[in-house]
Amino acid sequence: MSDRPRPKRPQHVMEVLERSRLSPSLVRLVVGGPGFSTFPQPPSTDAYVKIVFAKPELGLEPPYDLAELRETLPADDIPVTRTYTVRHVDMEAGTLTLDFVVHGDEGLAAPWARDARPGDRIVFQGPGGAYTPDSSADWHLLAGDLSALPAVAAALEALPADARGYAFLVVDDEEDRLDLAAPEGVEIVWAVGSAGGAATDLLATTIRSRPWLEGRVHVFAHGERESIKQVRGLLKEHELSREQISISGYWAYGRNEDRFQSEKREPIGKID
Ligand SMILES: Cc1cc2nc3c(=O)[nH]c(=O)nc-3n(C[C@H](O)[C@H](O)[C@H](O)COP(=O)(O)OP(=O)(O)OC[C@H]3O[C@@H](n4cnc5c(N)ncnc54)[C@H](O)[C@@H]3O)c2cc1C
Repeated sequence: MSDRPRPKRPQHVMEVLERSRLSPSLVRLVVGGPGFSTFPQPPSTDAYVKIVFAKPELGLEPPYDLAELRETLPADDIPVTRTYTVRHVDMEAGTLTLDFVVHGDEGLAAPWARDARPGDRIVFQGPGGAYTPDSSADWHLLAGDLSALPAVAAALEALPADARGYAFLVVDDEEDRLDLAAPEGVEIVWAVGSAGGAATDLLATTIRSRPWLEGRVHVFAHGERESIKQVRGLLKEHELSREQISISGYWAYGRNEDRFQSEKREPIGKID
């Protein structure tokens, strides 16, 4: 036995089983294989994993000892992570479904997913996550852009049949409006337009297009950082406790995930 300390967060090594195009902006990967046996049942509907990307030319073999690699490799060669929601877990089939927003050639995860083939290796840490719809809430407000669509879709599926409320979704293209399963009392409100850049107010404006309902709301709002700040401003108009709100940026316009994550320590990166 090696006396090398184990990597702090367990890593799962699986393979791509299927790739499909859900819409102009979304690619779905189903992943699994023998490595699935290490993956626990996720505790929440917004469960996410952190996919680890190592430069292929370095020939590193997973699981990666990220702590050691951070000490020993030049900064440009250190593996980086990208965060993705677990859209669905099939414990029987031993598969995970992940939906990726494709946003051009920039970035690591989106181009990788767009071009992934069955048999490709995928390494990730997780799952994390903290939100599950509160079944005792009087109504639910779910909101996000395409990056949060997988988490919103998973939440809609977990709601009780008599749940009430709204799911507000900003998508890039008319055809990104997926057919989502939802309780009859939950209206899905789509808005087509860019979530970042010049259109940061679109999500908040779309939320304002519907009446605020009576009773205790449970909120799930995630997506492009500046647009989520505007949603936070809107929520402040109502008296809500911390426990009623799950809110965060999932990405930031013009920033890769490394910069987006490091900016969380700066004023610009804070939602509140
Ligand atoms: C908890 C959590 C769950 C998430 N779940 C999902 C998910 O299920 N599906 C998903 O697609 N994303 C999800 N995201 C967002 C995803 O992690 C980021 O979009 C990430 O930056 C994508 O990595 P990349 O390598 O493709 O691009 P990066 O290298 O990080 O960025 C390259 C460029 O692309 C831009 N960019 C990044 N994301 C988008 C986007 N969505 N639309 C337009 N431009 C973009 C950046 O601003 C940057 O300019 C989640 C994030 C978090 C924190």
